[in-house]
Amino acid sequence: MKPIIDELPRLYANFLPDFVKTKIPVEELATCNDCAMCQKNALPKTASITHFLPETKCCTYHPMLPNYLVGALLADESPEMNEGRKRIKEKIKNKTGIIPQGIAMPKKYKALYSMASEKGFGRSYSLLCPYYEKAGGSCTIWKFRNAVCSTWFCKTVAGEDGKIFWKKLQGYLADVEIHLINYCLVSAGINADAIIKDPLPFASQESLTAEDIDERINEEEYQNLWGEWAGKEEEFYIKTFELVANLDKKWFEKIMGINQQIHLKKMEDAYLKMTRPILPGKLKRNNKTGVFKMPDGSYNIALGMAIYNIPGFAYQIFEMFDGTILNKDLLKKAKKEKGVAIKEDFLLTFYQNRFLIEAD
Ligand code: SF4
Ligand code: SF4
Repeated sequence: MKPIIDELPRLYANFLPDFVKTKIPVEELATCNDCAMCQKNALPKTASITHFLPETKCCTYHPMLPNYLVGALLADESPEMNEGRKRIKEKIKNKTGIIPQGIAMPKKYKALYSMASEKGFGRSYSLLCPYYEKAGGSCTIWKFRNAVCSTWFCKTVAGEDGKIFWKKLQGYLADVEIHLINYCLVSAGINADAIIKDPLPFASQESLTAEDIDERINEEEYQNLWGEWAGKEEEFYIKTFELVANLDKKWFEKIMGINQQIHLKKMEDAYLKMTRPILPGKLKRNNKTGVFKMPDGSYNIALGMAIYNIPGFAYQIFEMFDGTILNKDLLKKAKKEKGVAIKEDFLLTFYQNRFLIEAD
């Protein structure tokens, strides 16, 4: 178990609510250094699972980096961030996607991603994140990654309940990012009309201009966007980092307003379901679950990105779950007829992964 805050950029520790000190299970199924979604660790080719490429893993995505996280990276002097800092500086120099709100997904990339992510996620070199280090398979800006990257796990130890928890946390952090970005813009004197009209200018779907397609900058638009900060973008980002680094809990609560309470309630509920799940009395097999018999007689069962290998005798019990009798009676029957004793933990893992679902 480890506290939630350990998964997030450190500067949040100063002001996020105490909930982030709550301990959660370590997501040991997401073995990023030896990616669990790459073929050698997953199902054989016969299975209908799309494996990720070891050279891309799940980093086939261009995150939006909030201004204050860009500033935090620029201000960080640790050598392990050298490569990330170099890449960020290069991006700022090129100006594509460089806005006062942070470093956005370039419009051309966004258009490609919306068409290609369904089949290309985890497998396309063209979708690779600009901060991903292909040779080492690592993230060069890890300490300052955004809400999406901090909360993404292909597999979770609590199955679907774990995924729901991370999704709620991601929703909260995304809202935190928007509020803090806007706080920084207002504090740094960026035109308020522009902020309210378009909080994240590159978030909306719009047709591409010739400049967008060629990733050229319309200098006039760029100057208008940045105003007096044009040419001093690095300085601006560092200033936003300092603004956020100086926040305390009280100020932060004011910035977040009532949204904070709503998110907290959602996260607490999801946390309880993840850590203290209640098993329905009657379960049935989920017919969306993929089943693959392996040469050694064991079975791989899979749903979404969750894959488990179970011995043949356990699969025989799994098959018995047709939703007609209570779990406790079914387990007694299995013991009597097949001589197999199954523990409730087995059912819980299958239920949390939705291989088994509540029967009507
Ligand atoms: S989270 Fe990404 S890198 Fe980590 S194991 Fe899953 S797919 Fe691989
Ligand atoms: S920022 Fe890091 S974790 Fe996120 S997609 Fe890029 S390389 Fe992967």
